[in-house]
Amino acid sequence: MTILRFSALEQVLKRKPIKIKFPDQKISEYFGSNVFDKQKMQKHLSKEAYSSVEKAIEERKSIDRKIASQVSNAMKEWAITRGATHYTHWFHPLTDASAEKHDAFFELDKAGIALERFDGDKLAQQEPDASSFPSGGIRNTFEARGYTAWDPSSPAFIIDKTLCIPTIFISYTGEALDYKTPLLRSTFALNKAATKVCKLFDNNINKVFATLGWEQEYFLIDEALYQARPDLALTDRTLMGHSSAKDQQLDDHYFGSIPERVSAYMHELEIEAHKLGIPIKTRHNEVAPNQFECAPIFEEVNLAVDHNQLLMDIMVRIARHHNFRVLLHEKPFKSVNGSGKHNNWSMATDTGINLLSPGNDHSSNLRFLTFLINTVKAVHDYADLLRASISSAGNEHRLGANEAPPAIMSVFLGTKISQMLDLIEKSDVKDLGVDKKIKLKLDIESIPEILLDNTDRNRTSPFAFTGNRFEFRAVGSTSNCASPMLVLNTAVAEQLKDFVNKVSEKVNSGIENEEAILQVLKDCVIESKKIRFEGNGYGVEWLNEAQSRGLTNIINVPDAIEAYISQKSIKLFDNNKVLSERELHARYDVLAEKYTKKIQIESRVLGDLAINHIVPTAIKYVNILIQNVKGLQDIYHENEMKSIIEEQLTTIRLISEHIMSIKNKVGLMTDDRKNANLKENFSEKAKIYSSKVKPYLEEIRFDIDRLELIVDDEIWPLPKYRELLFSR
Ligand code: ADP
Ligand code: MG
Repeated sequence: MTILRFSALEQVLKRKPIKIKFPDQKISEYFGSNVFDKQKMQKHLSKEAYSSVEKAIEERKSIDRKIASQVSNAMKEWAITRGATHYTHWFHPLTDASAEKHDAFFELDKAGIALERFDGDKLAQQEPDASSFPSGGIRNTFEARGYTAWDPSSPAFIIDKTLCIPTIFISYTGEALDYKTPLLRSTFALNKAATKVCKLFDNNINKVFATLGWEQEYFLIDEALYQARPDLALTDRTLMGHSSAKDQQLDDHYFGSIPERVSAYMHELEIEAHKLGIPIKTRHNEVAPNQFECAPIFEEVNLAVDHNQLLMDIMVRIARHHNFRVLLHEKPFKSVNGSGKHNNWSMATDTGINLLSPGNDHSSNLRFLTFLINTVKAVHDYADLLRASISSAGNEHRLGANEAPPAIMSVFLGTKISQMLDLIEKSDVKDLGVDKKIKLKLDIESIPEILLDNTDRNRTSPFAFTGNRFEFRAVGSTSNCASPMLVLNTAVAEQLKDFVNKVSEKVNSGIENEEAILQVLKDCVIESKKIRFEGNGYGVEWLNEAQSRGLTNIINVPDAIEAYISQKSIKLFDNNKVLSERELHARYDVLAEKYTKKIQIESRVLGDLAINHIVPTAIKYVNILIQNVKGLQDIYHENEMKSIIEEQLTTIRLISEHIMSIKNKVGLMTDDRKNANLKENFSEKAKIYSSKVKPYLEEIRFDIDRLELIVDDEIWPLPKYRELLFSR
């Protein structure tokens, strides 16, 4: 009998880099060629139709039916000339994946003659049979209708002969069943609040939008090895595997030269991404072996989120061309680095200003400090909610695991900015604003130079200021960026509203504008002080210090996601019209269910592998040892070879104990699973899965990983860590 592991390894040895076809044109010439973007709309639409679409994008106005018809026609014509035959509404249900249902452009007219057709109403709205998407009970199966509706702010694109139209997904009763709807609502809230604050400094600013530049980390594993690891194939992570003698100790992978097969993959990925208008710019090796990263140029947040979802999708597809599998999981391998998706976030104005970037005069630098301090205050006030927004079964393994920030939310600002905030805190606000001396003391003008100093960076902070943006580093690699981004936008919007109100009150009471601003900023600095941390976020000392500061540290998902349904969150989301109480409860239920199911699947897969793969292998090896002992006893006299025989007997006993232990624990784990499954709601189930079932995954793995060290390599059935991490 051949072991799949060895035939897989043979296949890997024979692999050659796949030759890819490079476009004859420059990137600038084919960038966006598969996207029905503004330029193409302008070309294909009447003036009236184009300006109405532009209004829909800029001012969030709805498009009337006649215009929708024109747009759909133009879209269809363009798509058909590019070889498309089908169209689909493309949306992000609460599953972490995108969803699509394809229809052909083809229709029959009354006389039964075939036509290429795509109506305006089909562009504007569709009614997918959506009863099997998670809804947290909002949409009962007897009222299974959900609607998708076009989001004109994200352009349609073609993949594989299908025209994909980005849409929102809502229930018949108007509740959001997706990520995009609340994300868009959060951008409206932020725009409104932030524009008001901007007007304190500059009346010409009429719009503010959030910007996002994500960095996507991932692993690549050879297809054949992946297929020989049922745990990877079914759960996207290894549930067992002793660590490799060499993994990342030598730090020789990070930024190292990119292996040829991987380089071919990256090239093809980038070409396809660029055709789809995804502005990928950076690629490099990451810290762990076989771990890589790519990052685009930042964009408006809604578009950036769509682009990340789309990219994850094509990453998986293109990997198959190269006999690779992409692992997007946060922690595919124990004891080597996991994968995150840093969300670089800022706010920009319609006049082209980055609000988290210092300017070149006093007023613009004060504006910069205003947005910076308000963001810190928002993170302080809604830290629990921000944590909830990035909590998942996968990220649970990564947070606090020494290569990723802990589950304690804190903000890093860098020495100089921290000093500045300290100064504001200590200044006598009475003479802060107008007094030239104090201005000098604050040295607001010197901020730009200070920030050029890029050495002042902290890679251990979950939320770090990096010179002209914040980097939310705790986000997991599989996450839909909309989840953290909509929470951040909403929290900052709420804080900015509060800020403007307080400033206005002071101004109305006769205090001069700038002084009022500084007074309120001072209060914000004082109130949010405990969230600021400049030290090593990975250190144990921080755990203690954070605790003494009263900061929460909630690693397990069922507890963390409860922040979604706290009174404080309900009020926040309601105030800003981002999510209703019902929608929040639904989201919480969906998350608890998702968590439960992930642990349930992992537990079943591990039980199965342990009993059907590992135990029989161990027994096989024990039998070989028993034969050996018997043989030794036959050949030699009683006291001869005694120590060797005893040593073998010890090994036999050790293996047998591990076998017993595995069998026991798998039995107990199955019982706990059964008990959990009896619970009525997913909140209770999730808690039992987290506290009772999950610990067995580690305990069973312990026995298996020990056996891997003892059992003959020739009969070990699953590819080992050294093979998964170093073969390519
Ligand atoms: P690093 O690894 O040093 O953090 P990268 O170059 O890998 O930096 O990624 C930085 C990301 O931050 C890029 O996607 C970049 O476009 C993005 N970024 C830069 N400025 C902004 C901004 N104002 N708003 C949002 N994202 C930004
Ligand atoms: Mg980064």
